[in-house]
Amino acid sequence: MSRFWSPIVHSLIPYVAGEQPAISDIVKLNTNENPYGPSPHALEAISRAVNDTLRLYPDPTAQGLRAAIAASHGLDKSEIFIGNGSDEVLAHTFQALLNHEEPLLFPDITYSFYPTYCRLYGISFREVPLDAEMRVRVDDYRQPCGAIILPNPNAPTGIGLPLSEIEALVREHPDQVVVIDEAYVDFGGDSAIPLVRKYPNLLVVQTFSKSRGLAGLRVGFAVGQRPLIEALERVKDSFNSYPIDRLTLAGAIAAWEDRDWFERQRALVIASRERLAVGLKELGFNVLPSSANFVFARHPDRPGADLAAELRNRRILVRRFAAPRISDFLRITIGTDAECDRLLAVLGEILG
Ligand code: PMP
Repeated sequence: MSRFWSPIVHSLIPYVAGEQPAISDIVKLNTNENPYGPSPHALEAISRAVNDTLRLYPDPTAQGLRAAIAASHGLDKSEIFIGNGSDEVLAHTFQALLNHEEPLLFPDITYSFYPTYCRLYGISFREVPLDAEMRVRVDDYRQPCGAIILPNPNAPTGIGLPLSEIEALVREHPDQVVVIDEAYVDFGGDSAIPLVRKYPNLLVVQTFSKSRGLAGLRVGFAVGQRPLIEALERVKDSFNSYPIDRLTLAGAIAAWEDRDWFERQRALVIASRERLAVGLKELGFNVLPSSANFVFARHPDRPGADLAAELRNRRILVRRFAAPRISDFLRITIGTDAECDRLLAVLGEILG
């Protein structure tokens, strides 16, 4: 605590990101990165962009990248907003669209950055409990609120909602913004982007960090009708005019356009996920049905904290959250099949 702090700083509870270890000979399954990395075309485009033009500021409005994303959805580039990771897109969304008199609704078990943003921006919120199967029940959101935000698939459970339920939620709240955070949607979920034209209250957020293998580049985007996007632009241009640098713009466009790479590696991740889920069940784990690039699993006989610590001792990193109802679960990122096999072998040893 410091007497130099602005008053709000005393009440912040910052988000705690998963560990990025300095050591390299570790099986890293803790932060939902993509084991196959970015498209080689993205790397080439970034290399080509390393030149004298770096003395110039980048395009503050990211026109090229917005056009590429818009074109593949039959939208206009003015309906796309780009940010420095979807975390930045979400931060601007909370400030620009989710701060109302009535509370913002989101699940009690979800992306733990949401309550952090609420505290940063002074947004009142109400957490809506997941049901006994750890599912989001759209019916439970039928209550007075200022806005709604949900990841689909949810994190850290990995459970996805069908598009029909997302549409019902959006349709039933015509006077509230409904944000669908689709960080993991490319691994088996149904994207709500096709609904954007129909619903002025829907904002869909996606990222290049997972299915494009570019967590290190920091690119995310939102898709929505003009009034929502304009709100994000107003906040962004009151904060940082140039959040996306020249190398990132070049790499992200090339990554977006390499459809083959995208399809191939996400199919590999999905296949490894199904294999890993079977292996974990054989070891006695309860594994939630995942549509993401991770699984959420608990062993009935062993506390999650013990398992995570024993894995760490054997140089395997997974994520665990010390929150009620989920403290015995491990969130395990889908690695290569070799990494998943190593995890299963080590868990076999630990469980005896
Ligand atoms: N939304 C969800 C649900 C996430 O799990 C993450 C990853 N931590 C993000 C958004 C943010 O990802 P990024 O900032 O890398 O785009």
